[in-house]
Amino acid sequence: MKKREAAKNLSESGLMEKIVSLAKRRGFVFPGSEIYGGLANSYEYGPAGVELKKNIQDEWWRVFVRERADMVGLDSSIILHPKTWEASGHVAGLVDAMVECRACHTRTRADHLIENHFEMKGEKVSVEGKSEKELDEVIQQEKIKCPSCGKFDWTPVRKFNLLFETHVGIVPEAQSKVYLRGETAQGIFISFKNVLDSTRVRLPFGVGQLGKSFRNEITKGNFIFRTLEFEQAEIEYFFDPEATDWKKLYEQWKGDMWTFVTGNLGVRADMLRWREHGDEERSFYSKRTEDLEYKFPFGFKELWGLAYRTDYDLNQHMKYSGTDLSYTDPVTGRKFVPHVIEPAVGVNRLMAMVMLDAYTEEGDRIFLKLPPRLAPYKAAIFPLLANKPALVEKARGIYADLQKHFPVAWDDRGNIGKRYYAQDEIGTPFCITVDFDTLGEGEGENAAKNKDTVTVRDRDTGMQERIAIDKLSEFLHGKIYR
Ligand code: ATP
Repeated sequence: MKKREAAKNLSESGLMEKIVSLAKRRGFVFPGSEIYGGLANSYEYGPAGVELKKNIQDEWWRVFVRERADMVGLDSSIILHPKTWEASGHVAGLVDAMVECRACHTRTRADHLIENHFEMKGEKVSVEGKSEKELDEVIQQEKIKCPSCGKFDWTPVRKFNLLFETHVGIVPEAQSKVYLRGETAQGIFISFKNVLDSTRVRLPFGVGQLGKSFRNEITKGNFIFRTLEFEQAEIEYFFDPEATDWKKLYEQWKGDMWTFVTGNLGVRADMLRWREHGDEERSFYSKRTEDLEYKFPFGFKELWGLAYRTDYDLNQHMKYSGTDLSYTDPVTGRKFVPHVIEPAVGVNRLMAMVMLDAYTEEGDRIFLKLPPRLAPYKAAIFPLLANKPALVEKARGIYADLQKHFPVAWDDRGNIGKRYYAQDEIGTPFCITVDFDTLGEGEGENAAKNKDTVTVRDRDTGMQERIAIDKLSEFLHGKIYR
């Protein structure tokens, strides 16, 4: 517990900078298009980062899709028929109110500018749902300065569409205009009928989808918290409002989301909170919306949204497509449009949270205390000395064998201390060293007993134990997937 406390106290002393630097140094996340001078709000996921992100996705998919009898999966297109976004309200609705600083030309979202201003004053204020005129008034009243240059010289608030536009075909004509999806959810609604017709699902059931979404974000992103493209993990959970009590279902989803973050992702519960959207902030069709928020170093921010969206989306797509998307109850024969509860989260935001929460400093040790299931590499294999062929050969054999079961790392550079240091920063839970005892060439009193064993060092305790090579895979499996 003490170690975690230490990490918590770091939030005031540059934790974000430490994570950004570690992420680059250890191959988790690189700045986007760096050799060309960078591209704002875009990042590349390096060798360790792609594994961590994939492990979070796999965990989400396992818990919410594969291991649930009431869920199925889907992988819809990034480019959907453009009418999809008219029906969903995104063409008119996914529009942000922006202001531009006349002095330095920084453009920023008016709501973020205002909310951050109040947060600095220790007040939590939401301005979602306010008109451009009202936002202008707040900026003027509060005399909010430009976060980049410090001047107070804003243009009036203007609307700006967050959807990326592109064209199908080679001639950019109006009728060929399409959008990169701004959320994965709409793909679920437009495939609702096909899912019903091709499977044996019965209400209540959910459809889960993982995939990239795109938003033309202009506000400074805080590392991978807000980016131009991001991985969403969304669920539309369909139910009959006459047979299912939505309030109960809603609470169940809140519980499932909380358990996933605190249990599967190992995040401290005292860093999380629920925040309910007020009437102004909530979409007009939603009966209840709450955000699960994590205490990022830049404040409590939305991690995962939960919204009861009623039958709004399916009705809209019925209206715009002319296709019947209603459901017929197999027992009563009653025909109706199902209602839906939507838990929607960004995987990249989950990853930022997981890295921040796992960061631990203990004396001069720095380590990522990742749940072993999420760690990019489950173990690292070292020959004690890189210039002794017998040690290297033995270690290579173990590495090749373990690679069949887990993602594992190899390191033979520098001394053992340096290798531990690097693997700690990557969050590798176990380091395996092949030494002279392994070869049966040790000299101590346990030498004979230690033949064909290796030392396994635990990331969190620093303790070492000797494990027989032929028991290694089973040992690691028990520790990682327990
Ligand atoms: P925000 O208010 O932070 O812009 P939002 O309310 O627009 O988020 P939703 O439309 O509810 O977000 O999207 C669901 C989830 O997708 C969010 O909870 C968040 O985890 C993630 N998400 C949304 N926009 C981005 C982004 N630009 N980069 C990374 N993740 C994002």
